Amino acid sequence: MSDIHEIYAIKYGRHERKKAENYIGGDPHDTQEPIDFFVWAIVGASGTFVVDTGFDAAMAKKRSRQITKPIAEGLKALDIAPDKITNVIISHLHYDHCGNYDTFPNARFHLQDTEMAYATGRCMCHAVLKTPFEEEDIVAMVRKLYAGRVAFHDGADEIAPGLTVHKIGGHSKGLQCVRVKTRRGHVVIASDTAHLYNHFEQRRIFPTTCNLAEVLEGYDQLRKLATSPVHVIPGHDPEVVQRFPAIPGHPDIVRLDAKPSN
Ligand SMILES: [Zn+2]
Ligand SMILES: [Zn+2]
Repeated sequence: MSDIHEIYAIKYGRHERKKAENYIGGDPHDTQEPIDFFVWAIVGASGTFVVDTGFDAAMAKKRSRQITKPIAEGLKALDIAPDKITNVIISHLHYDHCGNYDTFPNARFHLQDTEMAYATGRCMCHAVLKTPFEEEDIVAMVRKLYAGRVAFHDGADEIAPGLTVHKIGGHSKGLQCVRVKTRRGHVVIASDTAHLYNHFEQRRIFPTTCNLAEVLEGYDQLRKLATSPVHVIPGHDPEVVQRFPAIPGHPDIVRLDAKPSN
């Protein structure tokens, strides 16, 4: 069976913000640097895997974010029916990665041990650490656990041939990236191990962090896991939909297994 996959980045949202908001220590340039929100689909001989589940309209309103295309619409454009999905990989439990929790009724959710422990343990006594989590998202994941629908991973693990998860931590205690074998080599869906190309390339740090050292070590790990630096796909960079070829009729859905334009 082939271990080569296609990968699609599906943009579903946007948040306009100042550049200084994206870095610890701020930024001297008084310019805007918006972030985009994505989920990803991995398609191969072992089936279709969805990475992360985004947030819904109610959460967008609550957090003053914009939904540009609901995730179900983005998946539909790829002929992916959410109720046919049997495996969802959750990079971490922040609100923008694990909402829409009823959208995949037949899926098992792949999560790091550490992330569930973090989101349900003593660190959530601290308001600043709790901010990126949403109570209902976490309760929904606990319900899935009791329904036998969570698969736990501890560090690096294989999900399918050519598809592995790797715990990096840093930004969230049990944050994992996803490494995918494709026709152009090993692509790494960094998710929030690198929000923007600037974070990974300039070794700067996004303000939401529980361990600075793990963030920085994580950049080295991303580089080792990917065939080259351009095989690392940041989790929130609007450049992603500019660099990679879009599918016909959907400029916000791009193929990451294809060569980037620069
Ligand atoms: Zn996050
Ligand atoms: Zn995020």
